[in-house]
Amino acid sequence: MELEGVEVERPLKLHFIPFLAPGHMIPLCDIATLFACRAQQVTIITTPSNAKFLNKSLSSANPLFLRIHTVDFPSQQVGLPNGIESMSNTPDPDSSGKLYRGAMLLHEQIQDFMEADPPDCIIADFMYTWVNDLATKLHVPKLAFNGFSLFTVSLMETFRTNPSLHSLTDSGSFVVPNFPYHITLCSRPPKSYTGFMEPLLEKEVKSNGLIVNNFAELDGEECIEHYEKKTGHKAWHLGPASLIRKTVQEKAERGQESAVSVHECLSWLNSKRDNTVLYICFGSICHYSEKQLYEIACAIEASGHKFIWVVPEKIGKEDESDEEKEKWLPKGFEEKNIGKQGLIIRGWAPQVLILSHPAVGGFMTHCGWNSTVEAVGAGVPMITWPVHGEQFYNEKLITEVRGIGVEVGATEWCLTSFAERETLVTRDSIEKAVRRLMDGGDEAEKIRRRAHEFREKARGAVQEDGSSHKNLSALIDELKRLRDRKPFE
Ligand code: UDP
Repeated sequence: MELEGVEVERPLKLHFIPFLAPGHMIPLCDIATLFACRAQQVTIITTPSNAKFLNKSLSSANPLFLRIHTVDFPSQQVGLPNGIESMSNTPDPDSSGKLYRGAMLLHEQIQDFMEADPPDCIIADFMYTWVNDLATKLHVPKLAFNGFSLFTVSLMETFRTNPSLHSLTDSGSFVVPNFPYHITLCSRPPKSYTGFMEPLLEKEVKSNGLIVNNFAELDGEECIEHYEKKTGHKAWHLGPASLIRKTVQEKAERGQESAVSVHECLSWLNSKRDNTVLYICFGSICHYSEKQLYEIACAIEASGHKFIWVVPEKIGKEDESDEEKEKWLPKGFEEKNIGKQGLIIRGWAPQVLILSHPAVGGFMTHCGWNSTVEAVGAGVPMITWPVHGEQFYNEKLITEVRGIGVEVGATEWCLTSFAERETLVTRDSIEKAVRRLMDGGDEAEKIRRRAHEFREKARGAVQEDGSSHKNLSALIDELKRLRDRKPFE
C-alpha cells in the first residue's frame, strides 16, 4: 500500500469466527480488537443477535480496522425461537443442543463468504472443526482458540495422549505424572466430556497455532515448553484480553447489557472500604439449584461480609412471589442484607468493572477461564467452586500452583452446566471458605499479596515490551511472512 508517496506495510486481513457463547465470544472479540488496534484489517463473523451486542461492546475499536460480518442463524431449521443465538440464552440442555447444532450449520455461509474474498489467516474457535479443511482449501493458515489456559490444555493433552491415565482417576486422588507442576486431582471428568473434547483437541493441534487468552507468566514457561514439546504445536499467549478495556464505559459494555445501572453499582462500591466486598458470580451459563442458592445466602449472611451476588434472571425475577423467593432466599434476607450490606444483581453483571474496583476483595467463582483470568488481571483472590467443563483444572492452577485462592470444597464434576448435583456444598463449607479469605489473618494476607503480584505481572504483560505485547508483534510478523511466502501449504 502506498500512502502519500510513503511505503506503508500492507495490513493483514484476518477473519475471526467466535463460538456462540459469552465465554468464547467475549475473549476472542477482545483479542480481535488487539489486532485491529495494531492496524490489521479484522472481520468478526457472527450472527445478528450477537452482532447487536458486539456493535455496542466494541464501539471504541477503530471502525476502519474492525468490522462485523453477519451470517443468518438457522433458527427454524434447529427449532429455536428467533433471536436465541447464544448459549447464555438457552434455558435447558435441549435448547443448548439445538444452539450447538445451529452453530455447526453456519459452515456453508461462512465458507461462501471466505471463498469469495479469502483472508490471510482464519482465527476460529476449536468447536468449528471444519475450519481446518477450509483453510487448507484457501491455502491460508488457521489459528485455533478454545478459551482455556495452556495449563488446562496441557492437562487435557496429557490425558488424551495417555488413555491409561483415565483408569488412574477411578481410584481416588492421584498426582498427574510427567507434568511440570505437582497436581493432585481428586475428581475426574465425566467420560462423555473427554469423549467430546478429545477429538476437538486432536484437530486443534493440527492447526497452525493456538491463541491463548492468558499471559505467559501465569501458565508458566515450564508449562509452555511442556506443551510445545509434547504436541509440536505453537501457543501464542496474548492476554489477559480483558485488560484492553480501560475506561468505565469500555468495561461496563463488555458482553451483554448490564442488568444494573453502572452508576448505582459504582456508587455502592465507592462507599465501601478496600478489599471488603465479596463478589459472587458463576459465569454466563452455570445453573445452581434453588437449594444451593439458599445455602449460599445463609453462608454470606453468617459470614457478615459485604457482597455483590449475581443470580440468573429467571431465578431472581423482580416480581417473584414470597413463596417463590423463599425457595432460594431465607425469609427476611433482603430486609436484613440488601442495601448497606449487599447487592443482588438479577441477570448480567458488569463483571470486569466490578472486579477492578478496589473495594472488591474476593471473588467466589465457578472457575470459568475468563472469570479466572479477569480476577487475576484485577488482583482479586478467589474462592473456587468448579462445576463442569475444564473448571476443576483451572481450580488447581489457582489454588495448588499459584496460591491465589481457596477451595470451597466442590468435588462433583458435572457433565453440563445444567446437571442436577447429587450433593450440596453446605453453608458451613461456604462460610468457612469466605472467612478464610475475607476475615484477614496470615493465610489470607499471603494469598492477597500473591494475587496482587500476579495483577502486576498481568498488567506488565500487556504493556509495551511485556510478554503478551511482544507475542502479538511476533505473531503479526509471522503471519505477514506466511502471507508473503504464498502459496501457503
Ligand atoms: N460475565 C459477565 N457478567 C455476568 C456473567 C458473566 O460479564 O453476569 C462474563 C465474564 O466476565 C466472562 C464471561 O462472561 O468474561 C464468562 O466466561 P467464563 O469463562 O468465566 O465462564 P462461562 O460463562 O463460559 O462458564
